Amino acid sequence: MIVGERKPFEEIKALLGDSARVLLVGCGTCVKVCFTGGDKEVAVLASQLRLAAAKARKKKVFDELTVERQCEIEFVDEVAKALPGHDVIMSMACGAGAQMLASRFPQVPVLPAVNTTFLGVLERQGLFLENCQGCGACVLGTFGGICPVSRCAKSLFNGPCGGSQGGKCEIGGDVPCAWAQIIERLTKLGQLGNLKAAVAPKDWRSARHGGPRKLVREDNIL
Ligand code: SF4
Ligand code: SF4
Repeated sequence: MIVGERKPFEEIKALLGDSARVLLVGCGTCVKVCFTGGDKEVAVLASQLRLAAAKARKKKVFDELTVERQCEIEFVDEVAKALPGHDVIMSMACGAGAQMLASRFPQVPVLPAVNTTFLGVLERQGLFLENCQGCGACVLGTFGGICPVSRCAKSLFNGPCGGSQGGKCEIGGDVPCAWAQIIERLTKLGQLGNLKAAVAPKDWRSARHGGPRKLVREDNIL
């Protein structure tokens, strides 16, 4: 899932400035699962903003709406119905969702309430771990299902580096060495032979290094 965290309240207030009629739009998918931008978080932020406005003796409106997925145009149609009468949209989705709103509603400012953080998993309640950087050419098959791009601090393909100590990465903070994990897992799978030959440098054109990416699925085009 895409993991994000809400911006600090003071930053959100500064972004909104004097906007008097704000439509807060949440997303019911990734950011809901990571407790950042679903309907409950929209309600919490709206209440905070209402309280702050009342304290400042300012008359402001903060309306709430959460759509199933902010990154899909058909769900965004719900926003079109709710938008009249508002002078700004505050998105509580990831950056993709916020940009979908910005392109669909060019007549109003779309402001982000969330910092999009990474692609990851819920390891346990309250702990999210980054495990994919969307490199566009997945190598998990070679590395026992453990991603060296995102889980090794140096994105090494022929690791570990000399800093790996006792299964921990040299960056500290109790971060596991991805290469220790890769070797352990490949050993268990009987696939350590995957590492016999040096892995060639990755062609990063499929990642961000080739500029903004797009994916065309001819079979899905109507
Ligand atoms: S190799 Fe690339 S696509 Fe596969 S998990 Fe790692 S970053 Fe994601
Ligand atoms: S210690 Fe392990 S995870 Fe950390 S940078 Fe070196 S090889 Fe990568």
